[in-house]
Amino acid sequence: MNVRAKVLPDAQTVTAVTHWTETLFSFRVSRPRSLRFRSGEFVMIGLLKDDGKPLLRAYSIASPSWDDALEFYSIKVPDGPLTSRLQKIEPGDQIILRPKPVGTLVLDALLPGRRLWMICTGTGIAPFASLLRDPETWESYEQVIVAHTCRTQAELAYGAAIVDALPRDPLIGELVDEKLHYYPTTTREASDIEGRVSDHIRDNRIFSALGMPRWSADADRVMICGNLALNKDVMALCEEHGLEEGANSDPKHFVVEKAFID
Ligand SMILES: Cc1cc2nc3c(=O)[nH]c(=O)nc-3n(C[C@H](O)[C@H](O)[C@H](O)COP(=O)(O)OP(=O)(O)OC[C@H]3O[C@@H](n4cnc5c(N)ncnc54)[C@H](O)[C@@H]3O)c2cc1C
Repeated sequence: MNVRAKVLPDAQTVTAVTHWTETLFSFRVSRPRSLRFRSGEFVMIGLLKDDGKPLLRAYSIASPSWDDALEFYSIKVPDGPLTSRLQKIEPGDQIILRPKPVGTLVLDALLPGRRLWMICTGTGIAPFASLLRDPETWESYEQVIVAHTCRTQAELAYGAAIVDALPRDPLIGELVDEKLHYYPTTTREASDIEGRVSDHIRDNRIFSALGMPRWSADADRVMICGNLALNKDVMALCEEHGLEEGANSDPKHFVVEKAFID
């Protein structure tokens, strides 16, 4: 499919596709030699429309900055202009990738701290899939907490597989061992931990479960990537705990990125 993308300078070749559920899939593409990015950043990717013009959307790079290939984790929006077609890609197909990475979910936008919290919903796990596989994350923090909320357990599977593989990763396995804490929650299906992660922060359930103190500006750094409601709720909770929002140019205690435009 999409043969016409081959004439574009920004075309990359799909090397693998995994369908996780009826609405979620991940895929790997070749990496342009010139592309440098910081783990956690996003790029514009897409396909050519029938009129020959590119249809591009923001996508977090889910692979770490050292990886030879690029990985993405995607929703399949029914009738979504891009994803209704993107979900059909197969190895050997080409996509468009604009090699201009940007984003705020980067370690540089946070002051040094002891604990790094990654709070996300749905495909918002993607930038953390990148950061979790980057040695710098594990060298910089004593504890790393991944709190991922989805509707169902099946929707947690991609993130769970990334987390599960970390201790066996030859590059970072030893660093991960005592530092990793995984807190998956579901909102529409029974599971070990139910409800929105924001509610678990608000009523301290997450801190009790992990045996950790509530957030403090001295020790805790928070990265947020979810739907609008999650982002708003967790930002407010950060501020209630005395944390301030950071940026690339002004690192502070928490950073936030939309997982998609609501
Ligand atoms: C900074 C940034 C990073 C992003 N990273 C990713 C990513 O890594 N993976 C990814 O799948 N999407 C990501 N998105 C969303 C992505 O840009 C597209 O919106 C998505 O691919 C759907 O494209 P579409 O053309 O099919 O539908 P669109 O017209 O773009 O979206 C239609 C509607 O679908 C819903 N929607 C879109 N994306 C999502 C989503 N990811 N989860 C739940 N609902 C959604 C929204 O209600 C939206 O209004 C990101 C968006 C932003 C702003």
